[in-house]
Amino acid sequence: MPLGGLGEFGMNMLALRYGEDIVVIDAGMMFPEAELLGVDIVIPDITYLKQNREQVRAIVLTHAHEDHIGALPYILRELNVPIYGTRFTLSLVSKRLEEAALLENATLREVLPGGKIEIGAFAIEFIPVTHSTIDCVALAIRTPIGVVIHTGDFKIDQTPADDRPFDLHAFARYGQEGVLALFSDSTNVERPGFTPSERAVVPRIEELCRTAPRKVVLSCFASSIHRIQQVIEIAERVGRKVAFVGRSMVSNVEIAHSLDRLRIPDGMVVRPQDLRSFDPKKLLILAGGSQAEPLSSLSRIAVDNHRLVTIEENDTVILSARIIPGNERAIFRMLDHMFRRNALVYYDNSAGIIHVSGHASQEEQKLLLGLVRPRHFIPIHGEYRQLFRHAAMAHQLGVVSGEILLIENGQPIEFTAQGAFRREPIAAGRVLVDSGSLEEIEEVVVRDRKHLSEDGVVVPIIAIDKHTGKMESLPEIVTRGFLPADDGAEIVSGARDVVLRTFGSSNPEEKTDYSVIKEKIRNDLKRYINKHTSKRPLILPVILEV
Ligand SMILES: [Zn+2]
Ligand SMILES: [Zn+2]
Repeated sequence: MPLGGLGEFGMNMLALRYGEDIVVIDAGMMFPEAELLGVDIVIPDITYLKQNREQVRAIVLTHAHEDHIGALPYILRELNVPIYGTRFTLSLVSKRLEEAALLENATLREVLPGGKIEIGAFAIEFIPVTHSTIDCVALAIRTPIGVVIHTGDFKIDQTPADDRPFDLHAFARYGQEGVLALFSDSTNVERPGFTPSERAVVPRIEELCRTAPRKVVLSCFASSIHRIQQVIEIAERVGRKVAFVGRSMVSNVEIAHSLDRLRIPDGMVVRPQDLRSFDPKKLLILAGGSQAEPLSSLSRIAVDNHRLVTIEENDTVILSARIIPGNERAIFRMLDHMFRRNALVYYDNSAGIIHVSGHASQEEQKLLLGLVRPRHFIPIHGEYRQLFRHAAMAHQLGVVSGEILLIENGQPIEFTAQGAFRREPIAAGRVLVDSGSLEEIEEVVVRDRKHLSEDGVVVPIIAIDKHTGKMESLPEIVTRGFLPADDGAEIVSGARDVVLRTFGSSNPEEKTDYSVIKEKIRNDLKRYINKHTSKRPLILPVILEV
């Protein structure tokens, strides 16, 4: 039963059932598109699992990325079952559950890459694979009617940064024995050739760090432990010290370091309080926020609103991360701020590789299909066109003896001795969550209606002079369905003060970046209104350019 990640990018989740036993593979989230106003994250609909809660034995995780573990805090609230995963994966999960006050009642069971466990009718082997974070596994699940392989996310890196290889032998072994069904990662099916090894980023990044006239700010995903390790080693070779900036960056580095999966030479790290005075020629800063998430470190640095880091002329900025589709506008706006400060900005591979993907390209996908030679094949982890192309590739290779099933979320497949069959669709879809209140919203409309009926709407209207960046007049606060009659006027004038203060304390660049200024105003007003009225009205800042 595919519950997420098939036909869309993110929130991967798949349930496997044999008789009375259900095992869930991954529990991911995705970030909402901009039009899902006020929604913080999106998770899979688990109605099917709730209806069959007596049979759900466990959630098994392939690796620590958000699109595979991010929904756990929400799902565990409804369905507290044991969670299996490798060490690094579970460390990140623990952190997440701790923040949600769920850790105490959670059952986390660590497995080693290469290890085996039994859950109900299933015997599961965790096959080591290479990907853009550490401790990643594929699953070989032995069922009474055959072996099912789920690749998780993978690429076939021949020279992994941590020297822990992709276990090709395991896949070949299962292929020889016979595999009932293969579920495989389709992300990069549009890319010909092989995905370069993680080590491929070293020469160019090293060159940039060696020749950088002043400090280097490099941003990558906080979960890219391989990348972080290599950057630390580069820094050591070129005589720079490193600093870590950003909540997830600091936290993940600490976790990986404590697990002995990140080597940081003694005396290599610059403390936050020493950053401002440190010789920029000897400094390399690893910062989170590569996707220009609002209020993340790199976004703040870009508009000169970071406590510790300022970009000056001739500083070097390296974006060592994929630009996730949908984030282009925000990222390029952020980079524009860097360019305005006359920084040397590098964000693509045009003059040398500064980022490599963690997903298999066509030749690796073919290699895997050829090794496993499954009876049935189901492309997963991709948008529809990617699933389609992956299916077409398998067809062309001719290594699949049974069915190639192009399916999307909610379309169950039943495997029997006779073949693979599509069954009656089950409930599947997106659940929208406001992480502030931890409430689930079936549909954004429902949430908006609820907000409007209970807490109303607050619209701060700010008129900004396009040329000077100054406020043209006092902000207007329009409210509907909100405010008790007695202290209404007081709250409105307080809200106006909050807007004035937020605007006043923002710097010129922030003031011209309306998405930043809106987000700041929304956050500050939310806090103020919640504190004084315990209500959570819908806040929709409007900026009028005059
Ligand atoms: Zn991944
Ligand atoms: Zn993924």
